[in-house]
Amino acid sequence: MLDYEVIVIGAGVAGIYQIKRLVDLGIKATVLEAAGGLGGTWYGNRYPGARFDSESYTYGYSFSRELLDEWHWKERFSGQPENLRYLNHVADKFDLRRHMQFNCRVDGAEWDEAGSFWRLTVSDGRTLTTRFLVLALGLLSIPARPRYEGMGSFKGRSFHTFDWPHEGVPLAGKKVAVIGTGATAIQVIGEIADKVGELTVFQRRPNWAAPLNNGLISNEEMADIRGRYDEIYATCARTPGGFEHEPDRRGFWEVSREERLQLWDRLYGEPGFGIWLANFREIFTDEKANAEFSEYIAGRIRQRVKDPATAEKLIPRDHGFGVQRVPLETRYYEAYNRDNVSLVDVSATPVVRVTETGLRTTERDYDFDIIVYATGFDAITGAYDHIDLRGVDGERLAESWKDGPTTFLGLMVAGFPNVLMPTGPQSGSASVNFPRGIELGVNWCTNLLLYAREHGHLRFEPTRAAAARWSKHVQDMYAMLLLRKAKGWFTGYNSNVPGHEEGRIRYVVYNGGQPKYVGILNQVAMSGYEGVTFGEPAHTSREASLSSAPGLSA
Ligand SMILES: Cc1cc2nc3c(=O)[nH]c(=O)nc-3n(C[C@H](O)[C@H](O)[C@H](O)COP(=O)(O)OP(=O)(O)OC[C@H]3O[C@@H](n4cnc5c(N)ncnc54)[C@H](O)[C@@H]3O)c2cc1C
Repeated sequence: MLDYEVIVIGAGVAGIYQIKRLVDLGIKATVLEAAGGLGGTWYGNRYPGARFDSESYTYGYSFSRELLDEWHWKERFSGQPENLRYLNHVADKFDLRRHMQFNCRVDGAEWDEAGSFWRLTVSDGRTLTTRFLVLALGLLSIPARPRYEGMGSFKGRSFHTFDWPHEGVPLAGKKVAVIGTGATAIQVIGEIADKVGELTVFQRRPNWAAPLNNGLISNEEMADIRGRYDEIYATCARTPGGFEHEPDRRGFWEVSREERLQLWDRLYGEPGFGIWLANFREIFTDEKANAEFSEYIAGRIRQRVKDPATAEKLIPRDHGFGVQRVPLETRYYEAYNRDNVSLVDVSATPVVRVTETGLRTTERDYDFDIIVYATGFDAITGAYDHIDLRGVDGERLAESWKDGPTTFLGLMVAGFPNVLMPTGPQSGSASVNFPRGIELGVNWCTNLLLYAREHGHLRFEPTRAAAARWSKHVQDMYAMLLLRKAKGWFTGYNSNVPGHEEGRIRYVVYNGGQPKYVGILNQVAMSGYEGVTFGEPAHTSREASLSSAPGLSA
């Protein structure tokens, strides 16, 4: 007798919705979560300034009208404390907490071919068995720290932004170092610059950033939003990124330079990702168009940062605007106009080591009270690599994905039967407004589970041919986009993660856009899950007859 029919690993936005669906269907299921509470991204990341860059009301779950009607998002881009309150509210409202087990990290999972089930090793010493395994591990859930010598020797306080102490950190009068200038650092720096004694920012490569333009949402505005939820979600569903922002469909070169400037001036003053996603589509594909727009943003940086030398340091030279997910900022550039803030270019003077009192670069020693590692995540595949997941014949997932993931639809992996990943690498989640992709992925995976159940199948697995075709399709989607040239998490680059240094592109996210992705998922389901074998090991399947998986010809 197995312990569970389904075990879900991870209690973030995805795991919460997944367990809701399973409980509603009366399936014996539980969530195992490594952290001490639910919320995933929003349980960690308690650093000052942590907030959405999705409009709050497009981020929330769409599955319950009652939930939509009762929740009031207070800010257009809500902060971490409210986001965590929201997720706890959802869990309580639907009585989901009793189906979750916290402080339970899954260290290993082994497939038992004879019995068609998974055997999990949990950090609390238990071994649990389950027929089906849902990996809701998160794509940004494993923090990546730099690999400096002497990190343990520092006598002050130091932590990664993901581990920002839950009780808060007194900052007044303190000498603080922030290492990194990615999305997190950009949020932290803008928030703490006027609250610390001194702030020194260590930058290796600048990122393009644009204003968040956050604001409060009044009762009247929230009432209006509630009345428009159907329309809002319909817009999200038809846009490539799952946001409210729709691309400007005029041709970049068909309008005059004045018209382009008019659009950009307007978007720069508007809230959210419009500057990125409501822009001309050529920004993503055409080097010249991208260069012209990047120069426009560089001009904005020069206007906002008073010291010309600092402004030049903050302007990226190695990639154009929008070829990586764009950090949105509040008072970020103005922080560098303050007397207590300085910028160290560690590409010119690299950090040599952490000392007892601070940091040593090739140029000099710096003393600090607090060092903040804002160095991001072992993105997309990190959490998968951290579980010793062994499939058919003991195949190890981390080993198979050493050079990059291969999946079927981003939701399943050949050689790993009965595993579903509602937001897996190569799925539609990472490149969009995450929760829109999460609901889609959870619903598709749940339907597949139901299908298997209804047909009495104790086993399912995608064929290697179908997975290879999907991964090729994912790769093809990169070919037309400038983002393939960027060193960032869309291409699997991270110099702080062994094996992820420069040199090899990893095709980790699906860039075909949400509508196309939805179309493919629907087609596969409607075909009776062509590309997936049920009830028998994949190598004895009808693989040979699957010359093309549905939807992949476009
Ligand atoms: C600072 C920050 C801001 C963001 N802002 C936005 C935004 O505005 N809009 C947007 O669309 N996206 C945003 N994201 C992306 C964000 O990750 C997603 O929006 C969403 O929260 C992902 O939910 P999830 O459930 O897939 O993953 P997560 O929230 O990462 O949850 C995964 C959970 O799995 C658990 N887990 C992993 N491995 C194991 C294991 N072996 N055993 C047990 N438990 C495990 C983790 O502890 C974690 O709780 C942001 C991310 C960060 C880091």
